[in-house]
Amino acid sequence: MGLSMGTIVSARLYSEDEKTAASLADLFEKKTADYETLFTVHGEGPLNEVNRRSGSWVNVDCRLAALVQAAKDVARSSNRAFEPTIGTLVNVWKIGFGGDRHPPRADIEAALKKVDYTQIAVDETPGTCRVKIGTGQSIDLGAIAKGWIGTALARDMQRAGARHGIIDLGGNVSLIGSSPSGEPWRVGIQRPDAERNTVMAVVQAENVSVITSGAYERKIEADGRTYGHILSAVTGEPVGTDLASVTIVDPDGARADGWCTALFAMGSEKALESAAREGLSVILASGDLKTLWVSRAIADRVTVQDKSMKIEIVP
Ligand code: ADP
Ligand code: MG
Repeated sequence: MGLSMGTIVSARLYSEDEKTAASLADLFEKKTADYETLFTVHGEGPLNEVNRRSGSWVNVDCRLAALVQAAKDVARSSNRAFEPTIGTLVNVWKIGFGGDRHPPRADIEAALKKVDYTQIAVDETPGTCRVKIGTGQSIDLGAIAKGWIGTALARDMQRAGARHGIIDLGGNVSLIGSSPSGEPWRVGIQRPDAERNTVMAVVQAENVSVITSGAYERKIEADGRTYGHILSAVTGEPVGTDLASVTIVDPDGARADGWCTALFAMGSEKALESAAREGLSVILASGDLKTLWVSRAIADRVTVQDKSMKIEIVP
């Protein structure tokens, strides 16, 4: 257990013998640090170089190029609810990183001029992968990287001998196999308005990621309002959404994470449409926490803990 990516990282890994268990623990720590460097914008790393040298091609690790391409794809399909060039705006608001007020509207307008994912260019030629963003733009993979990392770690640990496992990157869970008993893992979904570890629903799953976005993790309070950390590429303000949280169950953690942010930002009506169109397995909590909309594909694996909530099955 440790602190990384601005969240608490923990893992429970099960292997055949003690020796494998010790090597798994070491490998987990090393890989987590490597992946964080690969995708962070809060320290030195290749993504920072892409931002520093905006307007020019920058040679990058092909895994980074692939995730940038995946981010572009989610941006297009979500009609920019998920926007990977949100960085200039994130830097103006600084929510979760010391920001404590509503920034001047002029600063927001200036930042918004640089928010446009279509200016990202990706060259995935093996061995010489490159990424380029528009001059003055800033790319931020904070809403998709943790999901990618979860799936990558699960695969790494499995290859290194983990038979069962649960990897938790601050509420983003990636599962290896079943639980040691052979039953599916039971992943709790946080009730957004309650203390940490208050579970409102449980989903049973194996070999997938279970990713949740909500307004409860990072926020600021100013002028009597609460501002969440997911920003609108259209208004430049934190999104106003009628959803309390969005959970996605998917074998591809990056897809789950990116879409989680997108669906949360869209609000219930568009989120339900998009989930159906994209074939996403979702659990959406209504703003009043009375309804959980659950995709048919996972409906038999979801139970509510909180009896004041009711499940509504959606296509
Ligand atoms: P968390 O990391 O708390 O689980 P998310 O996966 O939803 O939450 O990612 C939120 C982060 O993504 C923000 O801290 C910010 O860096 C970035 N971000 C904010 N708004 C957007 C957006 N509309 N599209 C893409 N990334 C965003
Ligand atoms: Mg996300």
